[in-house]
Amino acid sequence: MTFRSIHTANLQRTFKDALFEGIAPDGSLFIPEKIPALSPAFLNSLPTQSLHSIGVEVCSPFIDEIPKTDLEAIIKNAWNFPIPLARLNDQIYLLELFHGPTLAFKDVGARFMAGVMSYFLAREQREVSILVATSGDTGSAVANGFFNIPHISVVVLYPSGKTSPLQEQQITTLGGNITAIEVAGTFDDCQRMVKQAFSDAELRSKRSLTTANSINVARLIPQIVYYFWATAQLQKFRKGIPIVTAPSGNFGNLTAAVYSKWMGNPVQSFIAATNVNDVVPEYLRSGTFTPRPSVQTYSNAMDVGDPSNFARIQALYGNDLDKIRNDIYAVRITDEETVAEIRRMYEKFGYIADPHTVVGIAG
Ligand SMILES: *Cc1c(COP(=O)(O)O)cnc(C)c1O
Repeated sequence: MTFRSIHTANLQRTFKDALFEGIAPDGSLFIPEKIPALSPAFLNSLPTQSLHSIGVEVCSPFIDEIPKTDLEAIIKNAWNFPIPLARLNDQIYLLELFHGPTLAFKDVGARFMAGVMSYFLAREQREVSILVATSGDTGSAVANGFFNIPHISVVVLYPSGKTSPLQEQQITTLGGNITAIEVAGTFDDCQRMVKQAFSDAELRSKRSLTTANSINVARLIPQIVYYFWATAQLQKFRKGIPIVTAPSGNFGNLTAAVYSKWMGNPVQSFIAATNVNDVVPEYLRSGTFTPRPSVQTYSNAMDVGDPSNFARIQALYGNDLDKIRNDIYAVRITDEETVAEIRRMYEKFGYIADPHTVVGIAG
C-alpha cells in the first residue's frame, strides 16, 4: 500500500517509509492512497474470529512489506491483553481498551508500532530517535511500549503539572532508552516543539527522527482493528448496526473508527465527543476549523486545541462538510456533565468509568 501526503498527492511513501518519517516533508499527514475493502466472506465470519486473526486481516492490506506470519507474531506480542466488550444494557456497550500495561488505550497502537519498528530496524541495523508530545497517556504508552527496544531512543515531551502523578512516574522512571522532558507549557506547546524539530533540516540531517503520536500511520492502522473486534463481540449479544461514539482529543481514535466503516465494518454513524476543547464540534456546526489554545479539563488526554487527525477525516470525505456531517455527529461535554455522567454510570450500572470514557457516553 502506498501512503501519500494529504497536501501533496505525489509525495508518496511505502508503509515503512511513512512509519519512519512520521510526518510528510510538506508538514501534512500521511494517508493511505485508498481504503481497502475487506471481503464479504471475512466480514460475515467476524463473530468466529479472534482479536489476533482480525488484526492480521485488517493490517495486512496496509502493510504488504511484512509477511503475514511475521505480522501475526508482532500482533500477538503487542496485544497480549484482552479487549473485552462490556455490556451495560441492550443499548450500551463499552469496548474496554484499558487492560494493557499502562492502562491507557494507547497501548494498543503504541505496542503495535514498537513491534513493526523493531521488526524493520533489526533487519537494517540503524538507529532512530522517537520524539513524542504527550498530555499523559501517549507518553506512558510509548515509553512503556518502546522501553529496552534495541536501536530506538525515545524522547517524551510532557507539560509540567498537567499529567497525573502516576503518568509522570510512568514517563520519567523507566530510564534506559527513554528520556523525559518536562515542558513549562501545555500539550500544544509540546506538540509544536515536536513539529518544529521535524521541520528542522539541520537536526534531521544529523539524527533519524520519527514520531509516535497518533499522526503516525503505524498507530492509526492497529486502531482500526478493534472496531472490527467490537463488531465481532457485539454480534454475539445482538443484531443491528451500532452507532459508535468515541471520546476524542487528537482524533486518531475516531479516524480509525471511520476507516473501519469504509473497510466494511457495519456502523451506522459516529459520535465525536470532545470536552470543552471543541474545535471539531464547532467546525461541524459553523463550517470553520479554528484551532485554539487547549484548556485543561478532567479528561486531560483529550485536551487538544488543534486536533491533527481531523485533516485525515476531511481528506477522506473530499473536504465535503455535508458528507462529514452525514456520518459524524460532534458534541462537546463540559466538566460538570463529565462528573454527572460518572455518577449516573455508577448509580445506574454499578460501572466505574473514567472521565474520558464518560465523555463518549454522555455524547
Ligand atoms: C488519547 C486518549 C483519548 C483521545 O484519543 P484521540 O485518538 O487522541 O482522539 C481519549 N481517551 C483516552 C483515555 C486517551 O488516552
